[in-house]
Amino acid sequence: MAGNQDPCGYYSVLGVKKSATSAEIKKAFKAKAQQLHPDKNRAPEATRQFQFVNEAYRVLGDAEARAEYDAQSYKTEDATSPSTGRAVEAIACSICHKISAQPRYVIYRHVFSVIFVTWRGGHQGIFCSKCGAKQAYKDSLRTWLLGWWGIPWGPIYSGQAIFSNMFGGKQPALNNFRILSWQAFYFASLNRRDLARAVARDALAFSEKIAPHEKDRDPETARIVAAMKALTTSSNDLSPAPVLKNLWGVGSTAFKVQSAAMALVVLVLASLALVSISRSQAPKTAYKHVPPVEHAAASVPQAPEFSEPAVPLPATGKIRKLWRVDSRTVLAPLEVVTAVGSPNYYLKLVDWNTHSPLLVFFVRSGEKTTIEVPVGNYELRYAAGERWYGEEYLFGPGTAHRKAEDAFQFRADGERVSGFTVELIKQSGGNLKETDIEPSEF
Ligand SMILES: [Zn+2]
Repeated sequence: MAGNQDPCGYYSVLGVKKSATSAEIKKAFKAKAQQLHPDKNRAPEATRQFQFVNEAYRVLGDAEARAEYDAQSYKTEDATSPSTGRAVEAIACSICHKISAQPRYVIYRHVFSVIFVTWRGGHQGIFCSKCGAKQAYKDSLRTWLLGWWGIPWGPIYSGQAIFSNMFGGKQPALNNFRILSWQAFYFASLNRRDLARAVARDALAFSEKIAPHEKDRDPETARIVAAMKALTTSSNDLSPAPVLKNLWGVGSTAFKVQSAAMALVVLVLASLALVSISRSQAPKTAYKHVPPVEHAAASVPQAPEFSEPAVPLPATGKIRKLWRVDSRTVLAPLEVVTAVGSPNYYLKLVDWNTHSPLLVFFVRSGEKTTIEVPVGNYELRYAAGERWYGEEYLFGPGTAHRKAEDAFQFRADGERVSGFTVELIKQSGGNLKETDIEPSEF
């Protein structure tokens, strides 16, 4: 390549190659700065050098500033004019050193995060499309693996870097205009006019993206634009210039590979999320989350495979009444009271003689209900527990089944009817004698 590759000597003062990564530049700067720091180095020359090293790092340490600096390498009055007859050297890939029709100046980003800290790094330089693609894969893979794990910038920077690399990296317009126009002159100097015209057209496409202030600052840009226009139009043969297959954009292999990788990652994450959602729902109904209930262990064997879903508690009051009402039926009140903090109760009132149920009802913890029942002799059975799984499973494997030992005798004596109040509350001196029963007896 012709021209001064390091117009201000920034690369050489840091002692790095032009293809150095941002990490290499940073490392070189630190070493130099330490060596030249005025506190350590009293040599009169050191201070001036120290300032120069800092200036170099201000430019080369910043991806955009470095790109701008690199762009200066490609303006050399003599070389940009093929009419002078001078040999123009081609621009080669900084990795494989091949000369291609589509070299690009590209900045690829990668991200590295540890909990609360996120670093951004990059690789920049002139790449052929193949080496560019490889660099993009490397930087994106590194970001996929190491970029996300920082709060809050990890995911934001990682997403930006991966998308940018996928779309061919950041390609500064001025650099690429300079490189491509140089390459167009090179092909023209070889008398490969068709290729020169195709490359010149790519160069002109970049020239349209150059920021106006950059263009105005530099009269040379306008001059090269004019030269490129001349190249694309003033051709002896009138056959159209070949259109170069875009090796960098959306149709490129690099783009396809990276978008396929992204689709795969999204797919894997989505299925992981689905699995974790279905897992997190399951334990809500699992037996192990049912709070222990009094007598549960005694009356019910361990049943860890129980996995019925819990359902909302029935309202306090009657669930079913199983007697036929006629005008002669005399009703007496049955009141059931539970304490706050007690279990919920599912109760059956059963005929003392026939053992057929007469009434099924429910009393929630801390509530009470009064139900009119026909006079007669009854047995009261009840199941208690916290979570309700419906009438088939009652309160699940932890259900406590009990009955009151004595008969409840509801009487009608002329105008007076006598009912019962049952307090399902543990109290000293309580007169409700109860026994545990098997679920099958319930
Ligand atoms: Zn290459």
